[in-house]
Amino acid sequence: MTAQLIDGIQLSQHLRTEVKLRAAALTAQGKTAGLAVILVGENPASQVYVRNKVKACEDCGIYSILDKQPADLSEAALLDRISALNADPKIHGILVQLPLPAHIDTHKVLEAIALEKDVDGFHITNAGLLMTGQPLFRPCTPYGVMKMLESIDYPLRGAHAVVVGASNIVGKPQAMLLLQAGATVTICNSKTRDLGLHTRMADVLVVATGKRNLVTADMVKPGAVVLDVGMNRDDAGKLCGDVDFAATKEVAAYITPVPGGVGPMTITMLLVNTIEAAERI
Ligand code: NAP
Repeated sequence: MTAQLIDGIQLSQHLRTEVKLRAAALTAQGKTAGLAVILVGENPASQVYVRNKVKACEDCGIYSILDKQPADLSEAALLDRISALNADPKIHGILVQLPLPAHIDTHKVLEAIALEKDVDGFHITNAGLLMTGQPLFRPCTPYGVMKMLESIDYPLRGAHAVVVGASNIVGKPQAMLLLQAGATVTICNSKTRDLGLHTRMADVLVVATGKRNLVTADMVKPGAVVLDVGMNRDDAGKLCGDVDFAATKEVAAYITPVPGGVGPMTITMLLVNTIEAAERI
């Protein structure tokens, strides 16, 4: 069996067409949706991510500002900047690119963002709202994964979903969204004994660890849906995921490629969240 690809680029294009229409409708009412992206320091990967986010906004008719700050910016100065953006009526979404330099307390910064502008959904209150089934914003990467499952009409109710990785920004919110969709969810982390024992039980397997080839074909149940969130480089420097794609696609029913899978969906869902924020405010 060769798995069907869930193409994140194609699905993103479709969703971005809807975003453009919603952005144009807002602009016609005299309110252009606006996103502020704050980057502190020179992390090369972060620079690429923020550029892509700003470009995606431009392409969809969303106003955006890229606020580049030096690596030695003080925590107090960053909090002041966020406070100004919280009060700025042109800005409906605020995103602070992670990771932040070590001298800045990430929790403090994320909690300074106004709840209604927290388009990443990382504020502790938004995490709590998600956990209690009343999300204001769904974190972009797990939200994108849910849209991919929706695109293949996957019946999550009663299915066994296994999430490998338990970070606050991907694994945990992913597990919550799957649970709320009616799946029975297992969450694995780096201490999990016999990872394969769990992954082989998965009807839906989401892998988000940042460990190249962590999941191999023998760890996947035939006919499963495999969503690979990981972003790693192979020995030739090419982008790859956490799943051994070539072998696993012969076992799974559906699989997401890397690149061209979850990555583009993350940015698309950021656009969706920004539009939702602008429509609400
Ligand atoms: P993270 O904060 O480093 O968390 C990694 C998680 O994986 C942790 O919960 C860790 O367990 C778990 N883990 C590590 N090794 C493991 C193992 N051998 N077996 C089982 N679990 C293991 O990373 P993240 O921010 O969630 O990101 C994960 C990956 O997704 C990275 O490659 C990142 O670049 C990528 N990513 C992609 C997108 C996208 O748009 N495609 C967006 C965000 C992140 P512990 O909790 O025990 O440490």
